[in-house]
Order: sequence, then structure tokens, then C-alpha cells
Amino acid sequence: MNSMLNPKRTVAELKELRAFTGDENGAQRIAFTPVWTKTRAWLREKLKTLPVEMHTDAAGNFWATLRGESENALLIGGHMDSVPNGGWLDGCLNVLAGVEILRRINAQYNGTPPITIRLVDWADEEGARFGKSLFGSSACSGNLDMNEARGLKDKDGIKLPEALEEIGVDFERVKDSGKELKNAAAYLELHIEQGPVLLDLDLPLGTVLGTFGVERHAITFHGQAAHSGSTPMNRRKDAFLAASKMSAEVYRIAERSGNGVCTIGSCTTKPGIVTSVVEECRITLDQRHLDSVALAKMLSEARAASEQFAREGNVSVSWERLWQIAPRPFNEALIDLCDEAIRETCGKAHRLPSGPLHDAAEVAAAGVPTVMMFVQSLHGISHNKIEDTREDHLELCVHAFDKLTEKTMRWIMRA
Ligand SMILES: [Zn+2]
Repeated sequence: MNSMLNPKRTVAELKELRAFTGDENGAQRIAFTPVWTKTRAWLREKLKTLPVEMHTDAAGNFWATLRGESENALLIGGHMDSVPNGGWLDGCLNVLAGVEILRRINAQYNGTPPITIRLVDWADEEGARFGKSLFGSSACSGNLDMNEARGLKDKDGIKLPEALEEIGVDFERVKDSGKELKNAAAYLELHIEQGPVLLDLDLPLGTVLGTFGVERHAITFHGQAAHSGSTPMNRRKDAFLAASKMSAEVYRIAERSGNGVCTIGSCTTKPGIVTSVVEECRITLDQRHLDSVALAKMLSEARAASEQFAREGNVSVSWERLWQIAPRPFNEALIDLCDEAIRETCGKAHRLPSGPLHDAAEVAAAGVPTVMMFVQSLHGISHNKIEDTREDHLELCVHAFDKLTEKTMRWIMRA
């Protein structure tokens, strides 16, 4: 363990942040609100003792740069914003661990490391106010859909461009933030897992292989409404019967896929009354996998199953794609380095995919070699005030993430 690193300070700073940005319902650092602005000011204050250049880019992302001998830059990222009533670690753990690592590197290299180290606090990762996550990082990667984003409104009818203007960001120029990635040689992100995988394995830390690709569809079965008393069972065209068979089937599809997941999250029926056979049944299907071939197979299996169940029930079926995103696998060399850093810190490493999306997915999509490290989540729950991680695990993750930073710095210098 590097004696210049003080992970206990990170835990203390996380508690300090929780005290002034949370209430009895949890964290309230919603992007572009006064609490978020206060959070940013607090972060600047923390960084003031270091010889770093600080600025906010064209998309409202905050950057702190410790210049090194080379312009090649190692990026460490996170997000200070939270969902309303959020947890105390999601997003800010990464940023505050990054602050501590900047302090260590500054001390160890007398203010000038061999390469440039940059900390970024992405703007509006959560999308809590405008319903669109990864705003700052997708503007920076160039993937932000400008037409869609231009029309986004919050619950009070305020448009995203208006909210951005309030904090001095010109919506039409947000993609200019892309120039921040010019010398980016690698991107590292630490995050609380948000699921129970590491908890169930009783492991403190894990290496993230990438973020899942997602296929999201609405599937509608069309039958015939008929009186529930006068229609014999063999004469029915029951849209719900066909749709209901999908429920068990998607579990089989997910199981066959290896690491994929499938969810039927909603089901609505028409006419939806107690005395009628269901004429129309609409379900939504969300499928996720780290491997694009496996994801495509899960989708085609679900399609085939729906057609078979429709035929069996004498009804028809139609599909509508709601949303999709490709899997974003992380860099293999960095995955190995992350494993190494974890093994050296706590003995055993484990590799897992990420179900939720993260800013790291956008940076990876922009072509920057990327990896994430997860720390175990107690209860396996996030976006909730009960989100928590053991304090010794928090300290371990800062140690391991610091080791990963040093290893990645060497890796960049070798390249
Ligand atoms: Zn997060």
C-alpha cells in the first residue's frame, strides 16, 4: 500500500459531502440545481491545495488537470450528481477517490508526474431531471442526439437548453467539449456495483468487462374480445394467454444466453375488464448482454417464441423497437491491469459485466481505452438512501484504484 495515499480521508470526505447535500431521504445532488452547484464549489475547494488547472468545459463537465512531463493524459472520472433521494456513494465515490489519487501522485512526483493526470466530474450522469442519462459524457463523446436533447423538458416545463443557460452552458455548443479527449490515453472509473454479484461472492472488488448492450421492445398480441360467459374455451382468441407464455420463456432465453438478462416490465390489456377475453395485450421486453452476437440471438429467440405462441393461440403478434444500444466492451489490457491491482490489494479478483450504463461507456465509445472497477454494495441496492458499502471496503477500493492508476500510467508510458 502506498503510504502517501490516505483512503480514510476519502471516507471522511464522503461523509462530509453527505452531511451537506443529503437529508433524511438520501442524497439530493440533482444536476444543474443549487445543491449541485454547491457541491461543485466544495469540490473546487478540495482541489485548491493542489497545483491543478481547473475549468468547466462546453458541456458543463468539470476538469482538474495535473500537468505531467508528457501531454498524454490519464483520465479518472465520476459524477457528483445523484438521483433525488439517492445513495451516498453512487458517482461521488469515484470523484473523491480521484481527488485522493491526485494528492498521492502530486506528492510522489513533486507536482510533475511523467504523464498528465486529469480528474473529470461529468455533468448530469443520472438524467434525473430531464430523463436522459449520460448527458455530459455523451456530449463529450459526440454521441448525444442534439435534436432529442433540445426538446427535453423537466417536470416544470423548463427545457434542457434553458437549464444549461442558467449555469452558463450554451446548448448548441456542448459537443465542443469533445476536444477534452484530445490527448486522452486511458480512462478509469471506480463505482459502487449497484447489484449483488460481489456481495453474493463475498468479494470486495471486481473488474468490469464492459457495459451491457440493450434491446428494448414493445410486443403486442392481437386477439378478439369475447364474452367471458358465453365463449367456450376452445373458441377463444386470447391475446393474454399468448403474451403470458412469454413470461416463462424469457427466463429460459436468459438462462441459455449465459450472462444475459431479460425483463418483461409492463403488461397492459384491452379491453381490460373482468367480463371479456383479452383482445389486445402489450408487454415490454428489455434484454441485455455484454456480447452483441448473444444479444442478437436472445432477441431472435424471443421473436420466434412470440410467433409460435401467437400461432398456438390463433392470435397475431407485432413488434416495435423502443430503444437499443450496443454493448461497450472495455479494453483488454486495462482489464488485466485492473485484475492485477485488485489481486495485489485483496487477494482475489472477479470479472463481471455492468448492467447499468456509466459514463465509462461513452468514453469507451469515443475510442479511449477504458476500464471500470466495482466495489461491493451492501444489499446490492443503488438509487436509494439505503445504498451502502462497508468502510473497510471503501478504503480497499481507494487503494486498489490507486494501484490501477499507477499501473495504467506505466502502461501509457510503455505504449
Ligand atoms: Zn453512477
